[in-house]
Amino acid sequence: MPKPAQKTNLLGLSEAKLVAFFEQLGEKCFRATQLLKWMHQLGVNQFEQMSNISKSLREKLAQVAVIEAPELIEQHNSRDGTRKFLIRVSGGSAVETVFIPDGDRGTLCVSSQVGCALDCSFCATGKQGFNRNLSAAEIIGQVWIAVQSFGQFDVKAGRKVTNVVMMGMGEPLLNFDNVLDAMSLMMHDNAYGISKRRVTLSTAGVVPGLNKMRGLTDVCLAISLHAANDELRNQLVPINKKYPIAQLLDSACQYIESLPDSHRKITIEYTLIDGVNDRLQHANELADLLVNVPVKINLIPFNPFALSDYRRPSYKALKRFQQVLIDRGYITTVRTTRGDDIAAACGQLAGKVNDRTKRSARYQQQVLKIA
Ligand code: SAH
Repeated sequence: MPKPAQKTNLLGLSEAKLVAFFEQLGEKCFRATQLLKWMHQLGVNQFEQMSNISKSLREKLAQVAVIEAPELIEQHNSRDGTRKFLIRVSGGSAVETVFIPDGDRGTLCVSSQVGCALDCSFCATGKQGFNRNLSAAEIIGQVWIAVQSFGQFDVKAGRKVTNVVMMGMGEPLLNFDNVLDAMSLMMHDNAYGISKRRVTLSTAGVVPGLNKMRGLTDVCLAISLHAANDELRNQLVPINKKYPIAQLLDSACQYIESLPDSHRKITIEYTLIDGVNDRLQHANELADLLVNVPVKINLIPFNPFALSDYRRPSYKALKRFQQVLIDRGYITTVRTTRGDDIAAACGQLAGKVNDRTKRSARYQQQVLKIA
């Protein structure tokens, strides 16, 4: 018997792809607008509820398409208002998404991959190895689930998710097309309508992906730098061996300069690790490096996790580091640790990765040998 053709999941289709989908069905392109609104503004995933679409088209859609968000398995609410969602994705794995409220702002930290291949030395996700890229539906589905959890598909309710950062599990630029499609939905007026100044892509430095972004998107950019010289950065962020700091900053500047609103700055993320990159000399080196780069700096005190020997710096060391940068004229903020009672802080996201690289098994063996 011939295998039935797989139904298209409409949830992750960008506007352009939805238009193409309807054209293929011989339908007008305004159907794409209707579908975007039903799915992303009203949270409707059943075609029969779409009252402004004729019965015959609804039936046709049900034959060839579905609207499927990934499944929410667990939700943890921290005492500080942070929420962590554990989300099942196909293939037996799970990813994590975190919502962080801060006054009027609510930031959703979204994952782009199951696990991560980059293996940064201080990141829990890297220790899990890499399994696969998330589909665009699984990425935008995380926004869908968070919005749903607040009952926000009711148009009268105030908006909770005001910002999105692609800073969850995975390296977004290694899943380029799906991340771009999902981000286009986050910003689209007929979907979530979040301003381009409130959607941020964070990268450990995948320069070809960064170069490709120019002209295709206009989201904010964050660079996970963590060291101001190549020798140290090679140890912390191994992809630096392939794309060293000078190349990375050059490419980041070209992206920022390509944006029509010229005042935007690159966010530099710098995770401070006790005794590794948190000394005065490191602060001065960072200040020297960034002299001609339009940046603001976000310091992240290292968040410990079970498989790491690194330590968080003292408050004094953190303040000293920040002061050097402020004195040198840099806007420098410290990312406060949120949701650490539910292991939702930066770098603690582990989800459930069926590791294809077998890195986590190798790592466990090493740890056992040392112990
Ligand atoms: N792969 C992307 C996005 C995910 S990481 C990137 O590297 O930018 C989001 C941020 O958290 C990065 O700046 C990352 O370096 C930082 N981070 C990872 N592990 C951390 C930890 N244990 N403590 C503090 N920050 C961490």
